[in-house]
Amino acid sequence: MNIILFGPPGAGKGTQAKYLVKKINGFQLSTGDMLRDEIKKDTQIGKVIINDMNDGKYISDEIVNNLIKTSIFDPQKKNKLIFDGYPRSLSQAKNLDLLLGESNQKIGCIFYLNVNKNTIIERINKRKTIEKRSDDELKTILKRYDIYMETTRPVLDFYSKNLNFHEIDGTLQIDEITRKIDTFINV
Ligand code: AMP
Repeated sequence: MNIILFGPPGAGKGTQAKYLVKKINGFQLSTGDMLRDEIKKDTQIGKVIINDMNDGKYISDEIVNNLIKTSIFDPQKKNKLIFDGYPRSLSQAKNLDLLLGESNQKIGCIFYLNVNKNTIIERINKRKTIEKRSDDELKTILKRYDIYMETTRPVLDFYSKNLNFHEIDGTLQIDEITRKIDTFINV
């Protein structure tokens, strides 16, 4: 079953993705992690994106669409994909539909982790002390939240009518969220 974890920065998508990897023996597809990896390895893409990443701006659809392609067409990962931080725009959502169709796959579940702005700020401030991400400064968090509201939140309309769309209160404790997710996953 392919799963999309949707929600603002700090909603807990990464945490639940890691749980789901174990649960369904799946593969986490975090475009954020992939992009950070490009920067760490100082690749051509890494050089292009470093400033926008640090500023909390979105990376072009073209770059992220390309990054996820290999995994979607990887037979080992077929129907075991856990999308974390993708899609983040309507054009990415349409691209995902297209690629899944071409590879004869579907989206099994979409989980929307709904979190308010104050909780996000609190959580990311905490994460800053642990992960030391350059885009977790308060000014950047606020910008990322605004970009999310403007570009990513509208993607909800694209998914929310699906029967397999589930909104979950992302302010709950991690294990409570996991338990709710579990009720929709049958493996
Ligand atoms: P994340 O680790 O998901 O919080 O993503 C960190 C940053 O990576 C974001 O603020 C964006 O700059 C970039 N990024 C990650 N995923 C995407 C995406 N699907 N589209 C555009 N930019 C992305």
